[in-house]
Amino acid sequence: MHKFADMMREKASDLAALDTKAMGSAIGTQTMGYGVCADLFDYYAGLADKIHGETAYPTSLGRYKFTQREPIGVCSGIGAWNVSAILFGWKAAPALAAGNTFLYKPSEKAPLGTLALGALIKEVFPPGTINIINGTGKTGQLMAAHMEIRQIAFTGSTATGRKIQEYAAKSNLKRVSLELGGKSPSVIFEDANMDLAVAKSMEGILANTGQICAMASRVFLQESISDKFIDNLKGAFQQASEAGIIGDPALQTTQVGPIADKKQYERVMELIEIGKKEGKLVTGGVQRGKNGLFVEPTIFKNTPNTSRIVKEEVFGPVVTVHTFKTEDEAIEMANDTVFGLSACVYTESISRALRVTRQIEAGTIAVNDWYFPAPDTPFGGVKQSGYGREGGLEGMQDYLQTKTIQIKQ
Ligand code: NAD
Repeated sequence: MHKFADMMREKASDLAALDTKAMGSAIGTQTMGYGVCADLFDYYAGLADKIHGETAYPTSLGRYKFTQREPIGVCSGIGAWNVSAILFGWKAAPALAAGNTFLYKPSEKAPLGTLALGALIKEVFPPGTINIINGTGKTGQLMAAHMEIRQIAFTGSTATGRKIQEYAAKSNLKRVSLELGGKSPSVIFEDANMDLAVAKSMEGILANTGQICAMASRVFLQESISDKFIDNLKGAFQQASEAGIIGDPALQTTQVGPIADKKQYERVMELIEIGKKEGKLVTGGVQRGKNGLFVEPTIFKNTPNTSRIVKEEVFGPVVTVHTFKTEDEAIEMANDTVFGLSACVYTESISRALRVTRQIEAGTIAVNDWYFPAPDTPFGGVKQSGYGREGGLEGMQDYLQTKTIQIKQ
């Protein structure tokens, strides 16, 4: 696993170029993804010889009892197209470290980088240890319904996640873990560092052209700072745009590429049109330039919570901003969603940060920051963002099963 991680780091930009070619994501973002994937293989390699059970004491009714943690068997994963390398590493690395074999299907929209990883896998691992299969949703369905596959980890939309759960239930009741969509809130209090909050919010809106499950797509501003924040965010978008960070995704200087494909572009534009009708457009809201599927970074305000643009995941560089008066109101608004993947809280008060993070319903909350993937901590959702965790010690649990052994004394 360490050797594979080293090879991946060495080839990161070549692998990233394949994903960039497939779905237009900035090459820097995809290269970072292979770096995280390599880190995940190193991290879980370090856990492979630290799998322990427990011994029960006192012995019950004259029996000596202990548990051992064992591999499950054939495990599997299905990924979305946005940052393919991370989605693969989150699943394959703990599955392997726990002693399982693993079958993975990348998204048909961006399979090239993961398929190229297959060549490296052949060089390093025994045949059949990690298997990569190509295909559409139909192939994913066959995996989820397969009688010999004992576990499936899925990253993708909430709609497909529901189906995976159903296929598993109707076949062999395989274990399922689901990393699904999000509509993550950023709650910005009046005591926050304004420049930091603007910079981090921009990162959370534009990273991977907004095509990240943890993107900061709903921003809640305390009333007294609302106008200033909106002006500053609009100004920051303009500056970023003039600085040339939006454009050809194959260039190292580009941070924001086009939308992944026509279907996704049309969905983003459909939701933008709804935003224009139901709220007030602050900036953007149009195609950027005439070539390619670029969308101008877009801000809406005054959109009601019932609007589809506030309720549904857009998966594009689009944010809705809302104002609140009190902390309680902010928490209520932030939680007014079926999703619960991640959130951000901006404040200089530690006690407020602790109070608010405790009450926001999300699997990961960043304080004065935006989410960044790290191998050593778990990531995953609550509510309709799914269940199960990827990363960290907890990320290994889905790939192990416990056996209790009792010995009569
Ligand atoms: P999607 O659900 O359309 O597809 C995801 C994967 O599922 C693809 O590999 C696809 O081939 C497969 N698939 C499609 N239909 C299937 C079926 N019936 N049975 C089995 N497999 C099937 O999602 P997408 O458009 O590729 O990705 C975008 C979504 O992924 C967004 O909702 C985003 O939030 C989510 N996502 C979540 C995370 C996370 O960690 N929570 C990370 C990245 C993306």
